[in-house]
Amino acid sequence: MTAVLSQTQYETVVGLEVHVQLKTASKLFCACANHFGDKPNQNTCPVCLALPGVLPVLNEQALNFAVRLGLALNCQIASRSKFDRKQYFYPDLPKAYQISQFDQPVCENGYLMLSNGKKVRILRAHMEEDAGKLVHSGADGLAGSDYSLVDLNRAGTPLVEIVSLPDISSGEEAQEYMTQIRNIVRYLDVCDGNLEEGSMRCDANVSIRPVGQIELGVKTEVKNMNSFKAVRRAVESEVERQIQLVESGQRVVQESRLWNDATGTTITMRSKEEAHDYRYFPEPDLRPLTLDPAWVESIRKELPQLPAQRLEKLTKTFGLSEYDAGILVEFKELGDFFEATAAICQNYKAITNWLMGDITAALKTEKWTLDQTKLTPQALAELINLVDATTISNAIAKKLLPELISAGGSPEALVKEKGMAQVSDEAAIRAMIQPILDANPQQLTDYRAGKDKLFGFFVGQVMKASQGAVNPEMLNQILKAMLAGP
Ligand SMILES: [Zn+2]
Repeated sequence: MTAVLSQTQYETVVGLEVHVQLKTASKLFCACANHFGDKPNQNTCPVCLALPGVLPVLNEQALNFAVRLGLALNCQIASRSKFDRKQYFYPDLPKAYQISQFDQPVCENGYLMLSNGKKVRILRAHMEEDAGKLVHSGADGLAGSDYSLVDLNRAGTPLVEIVSLPDISSGEEAQEYMTQIRNIVRYLDVCDGNLEEGSMRCDANVSIRPVGQIELGVKTEVKNMNSFKAVRRAVESEVERQIQLVESGQRVVQESRLWNDATGTTITMRSKEEAHDYRYFPEPDLRPLTLDPAWVESIRKELPQLPAQRLEKLTKTFGLSEYDAGILVEFKELGDFFEATAAICQNYKAITNWLMGDITAALKTEKWTLDQTKLTPQALAELINLVDATTISNAIAKKLLPELISAGGSPEALVKEKGMAQVSDEAAIRAMIQPILDANPQQLTDYRAGKDKLFGFFVGQVMKASQGAVNPEMLNQILKAMLAGP
């Protein structure tokens, strides 16, 4: 190609392969605990150690989770599915093959909708077992190590691999797609959804092509992204690298590349010439799966509210902004609390403000989750109602919050007990203002001489003296009148 194209004349093409670790009690084909952080090789047995003569038995809970996930990803659930052996040699794989699914995955042909209206098609979501883990003696991985140790606690734990078609066309879309999957697995309660801790992993197939070209360019597979932001940055950096290659007359080579978060670049991991031929064949030790459509339907009926449904409900039914709704969707606990409060209190904006403002701030300070506090949706609704009825000011409500969080109780009872009710009685307010005017004759003279700005000073003094317990609207009115003079 002799013509030099500018950056905007290239199109980014990305497909994502996402591994989701299912949080079942036991492993995929044996009764060992599926638990992270135990002593090395504690959760192993003859099946996941691949001793001779053992047989795998499918974990029904894992199949149930996979079907739930497939349904939430708008997939068709196969009525017939099977497992296959994927052969490769690596020290963390005791059988020297992985039980996976090749041509008959449990879930196929799904999709996710991005916020910009784009549909990302999902080719398949299949079940497979995870490998073990190598622990290298050197701090910087295999290269600097004298020896490596094998921990097989993870060997045989259940995964679902979700494979998208190359419908994603920017790093931002890749990040949103990943975030949506994270939200879905958390709402379904089938996975922790922590990219940072590895309970979700992602490989990105990245290529570029001139805008308008239908044929796909040569792709690279980018690995090792440990955060949602890293997914976006890795795609952007890899696209940039490929454009520079093509612009300088070189070619993109098909290979696996490793994302380095510190340098913000990708480096060659292995070229495709070294790629494996996995020699898939049907797993003879497991019978093909026959999934009863009635069973699948029963799972569909029991699906909880999904993130997309909550987003629609929050924006359409409750009239929240896309931004506010997005936060309440992402932080499920806040969203649950919002919906429970909104069922008994109609001031939706106030609920949102409390949850995203003072309540979130208090949780951060105490390093608590909402369910570790004593705050209930009833208490929040009551608090908002007290402010709306001008029984207490917003300032007083904020003062009550820490106690509601740490000790619980009813805001109404607390207000009565502490005598915090807002003063809305004209005579009482006048009686509060007079001593302030008496104590500040100079400011009073200046105000009457035209220094309007001093109004705020007087408001502040009254609020301070009354500890915020004065109805602010009435205070404004009465103060103005009294300042103007008799
Ligand atoms: Zn086992």
